[in-house]
Amino acid sequence: HRMFGFRRKTAPVSFSGPTRNERIARLGKETFDLLIIGGGITGAAIARDAALRGLSVALIEKEDFASGTSSRSSKLVHGGLRYLKGRHVRLVRESLRERGVLLKIAPHLVEPAPFYLPVYAGGHDGRLKLRLGLTAYDLLAGFGGDIGRHTVLSREQMLEAEPLLHPEGLQGGFRYFDCVANDARLTLMTVRSAIEDGAVAVNYVEAMGLRRDGERVSGVAFRDTLGGKTGAVGARVVVNATGPWADRLREMVGVSRMLCPTKGVHLVLSRARLGLSSIVVIPRGGRMLFAVPCGDSAYVGTTDTYYDDDPGAVAIDAADASYVLDAVNALFPSARATAADVVAGWAGVRPLVASEGQPLPSDVSRDFEIDANPDGFYSIAGGKLTTCRAMAEALLNRVIAQEGPRFGWQTKPCRTAETPICGGNIEGFDRYALSAANTLAGGWGVPVEAAQRLVKTYGTEHVRLLGCARSDATLFRPLAEGCPVLRVEAVYAAEQEMALTLQDFMERRTELMLFDPQHGFDGADEAANLMGGVLGWDRRERQRQVSLYREAVARMTAFVKESVAAPAEEG
Ligand code: FAD
Repeated sequence: HRMFGFRRKTAPVSFSGPTRNERIARLGKETFDLLIIGGGITGAAIARDAALRGLSVALIEKEDFASGTSSRSSKLVHGGLRYLKGRHVRLVRESLRERGVLLKIAPHLVEPAPFYLPVYAGGHDGRLKLRLGLTAYDLLAGFGGDIGRHTVLSREQMLEAEPLLHPEGLQGGFRYFDCVANDARLTLMTVRSAIEDGAVAVNYVEAMGLRRDGERVSGVAFRDTLGGKTGAVGARVVVNATGPWADRLREMVGVSRMLCPTKGVHLVLSRARLGLSSIVVIPRGGRMLFAVPCGDSAYVGTTDTYYDDDPGAVAIDAADASYVLDAVNALFPSARATAADVVAGWAGVRPLVASEGQPLPSDVSRDFEIDANPDGFYSIAGGKLTTCRAMAEALLNRVIAQEGPRFGWQTKPCRTAETPICGGNIEGFDRYALSAANTLAGGWGVPVEAAQRLVKTYGTEHVRLLGCARSDATLFRPLAEGCPVLRVEAVYAAEQEMALTLQDFMERRTELMLFDPQHGFDGADEAANLMGGVLGWDRRERQRQVSLYREAVARMTAFVKESVAAPAEEG
């Protein structure tokens, strides 16, 4: 609570927490029960659980929170319908249960949505098989749980829902329910919850090597990747939650590899091009891709190919782009989408755990695994965004059973399934969102659409966000004309959400980089000025942040040039 002057369930606006330097200094002074390396969803969930159980916890992340795989997923919180085909019933049941838990504890970040699954003559899976699969899915979710059961749709109903679907061979389809989530903000809010419960979490701090005291781990040497300073943090137990980087850390420590990573990409197109009104499942050779609307954009993915290079260098290539575009054009022929139409995209690496034999990438298990070394070094990998809470619970049960007696820990039971994630302490989210947005629009003069977005994005935290604009009503204006994001959000991101670069704000605190057709360029200078006011950037630093952001966008869309150039060169 002291960290940011937060107090649970009340909203006094106090921004006088320790600075980042003070937090780094704390790393150097204390010996923590648990040090977590990696600030993706897995590390974040472990930090929250451990803090709630009463352990002293530190978490370090070498870049921004969620900058790895946890902001590069399909952004679905789901049971994984396709895993039923591989008879991974336990995994699907667990994922569906966790879907329900996340809906309850983070209703502002996880949203139920209808999914439309078209069925074509001669398709890979027949109607009957899909019907049976969806019935099992509903049953495993407890008869559709609280979000609804599937329905069978005729060809006409499918076309009415999604008019630009390829009509030839279309037999009909299904509508079922799953959830979409803001993966980066879910990670960030999980970190913030951990902080509120006493954890010390710092982004842009990299673990450089393990420290030992005799047979046991005693901590980690680290480097501040922004300031360059080095130091060491003491810990009784160290958890490697570095996702696709897990083997790099394991090699550093001298233990064998455990991963079988695969790469997946998503492309962002104009929503109007697909005429998309809901999420559409694109069946493709036994796999399922998703087309997901997001504002005026839609993203489509994903691919699944083995990837063993540097996870930090993963990028979309021409072959990835053409696989996704072919799938889009097969289902939405009028889109005639080419690489030149792609607005943005992202590539991520699944930190899957190696299994026996050499299965197809899409058949590698999505289960997670915990590997414990007798010296107090634990690794956890695999799993899904959806199952992050259960993964953390299993890891901590194991750590506490194994290490608790040695250190005399008196821990509380796991409470993460009942404890809301920061901003999510809300019963009946839809009703809350409507009334809060009306209050904002009526009382504070925020445009209705912006008010709805604020409440949906920040949940109850929108109150603290508004506090940032108490003395300056101009902060309620958009970053630039027509931009959905308000100026106050840049201030809030720097003050309260640990954003340290302009890209942190544009890509992960908001999603302007991915889903705004202009990547929010019009508002980039303004955002840099506002963040700079909080973070002490001079004029040169503000300009540097804007150029770094432009370079990041250019890297993100480099594959477009590559793909557009390739056929010409061949010809
Ligand atoms: P990461 O998020 O990669 O976190 C690891 C972190 O460790 C990184 O931020 C990295 O910077 C940091 N790190 C590495 N080395 C160090 C070091 N030395 N010091 C400090 N920090 C370090 N799951 C779902 O539930 N639903 C989906 O729809 C879904 N879709 C997916 C689609 C794709 C294409 C992919 C790739 C994955 C998808 N997943 C999905 C799976 C899910 O995204 C991952 O399982 C999850 O994000 C992994 O999180 P993580 O924390 O283990 O790894």
